Amino acid sequence: MDKILSGKVVSLNLIGKLKKKILKLKCEGVIPAAAFIRIGSHRDDMAYQNSILRTCNDVGVTTVLHELSDHTTSEELIELITKLNEDETIHGIMIFRPLPEEMDEEMINNTISPDKDVEGMNPINQAKVFAGNYQGFAPCTAAAVMEILKYYNISLKGKHAVILGRSMVVGKPLSMMLLKEDETVTLCHSKTEHIDEMARTADVLVAAMGRPNAVGADYIKPGAIVIDVGINVDQSGKIHGDVNFDEVVDLASRITPVPGGVGSVTTAILIKNIVKAARNFKCNKESAIACLLI
Ligand code: NAP
Repeated sequence: MDKILSGKVVSLNLIGKLKKKILKLKCEGVIPAAAFIRIGSHRDDMAYQNSILRTCNDVGVTTVLHELSDHTTSEELIELITKLNEDETIHGIMIFRPLPEEMDEEMINNTISPDKDVEGMNPINQAKVFAGNYQGFAPCTAAAVMEILKYYNISLKGKHAVILGRSMVVGKPLSMMLLKEDETVTLCHSKTEHIDEMARTADVLVAAMGRPNAVGADYIKPGAIVIDVGINVDQSGKIHGDVNFDEVVDLASRITPVPGGVGSVTTAILIKNIVKAARNFKCNKESAIACLLI
């Protein structure tokens, strides 16, 4: 049994399956396509953006990039999203975040059509995740964690998961997804007292705080499965997880590395969601035609 849970292996496996689905959709006349919106030109965004666009192009997903200036208003962004919602050649919409502080993020998330919300940011999709309904779109990073656990056949039923971090993109949706798999879940945050003691009760410990190397040996129950979601870039450009890997690796039974862990799977999940949106579009179109024929 491999101790290292390789996100690269999981991603390659998923991408392989997606390529077949994309080919099938293309034979049926649908070319999966997504619009990407970037506001301003932060260096981190650009690297992430280029990697996503490259992967989309490699697998056969068409991409349309909208590069907006730093001075874009919420109203202008909403106007663009509304146009993309109506565009039948676009199946998914992704916005690079964080958005400028002055933007009305709630209104922007509400504007993205739930059918094209491949990042799982619209409240309708969030509600579905919380209701245990997987017909919508779950946030890609939370879904990436689940994909890794599924790929490595890690049994979750009855186990105790402790998640460090309660954001709407990782901690909260992941807590609901683990709960649906019959785990018992504890969600911790910056105000949690004795967080190390809490973490030591975990069979599955997920670190998603954005605090480089914060999780040391004192957070780990021997034999625990450790999933590191953190991506923290230091001044020299080196990436660190939230887990101090060297300190924890001997205690954990299985552990994701950073880089090469959860982050590697997140882009594959985004593509999975775009393909799902394209397939849903095709099915909806066919049922609309069927209705007209009745
Ligand atoms: P976020 O929105 O800033 O949320 C961080 C969460 O961690 C908050 O709930 C915060 O608590 C909690 N927290 C912060 N410091 C803490 C501490 N010392 N002890 C306990 N809890 C603490 O961050 P995010 O967007 O969820 O991202 C978290 C990390 O995951 C970042 O490193 C980010 O880069 C990474 N990430 C990775 C991927 C990927 O694909 N692998 C994708 C997205 C994010 P409060 O709620 O009390 O403030």
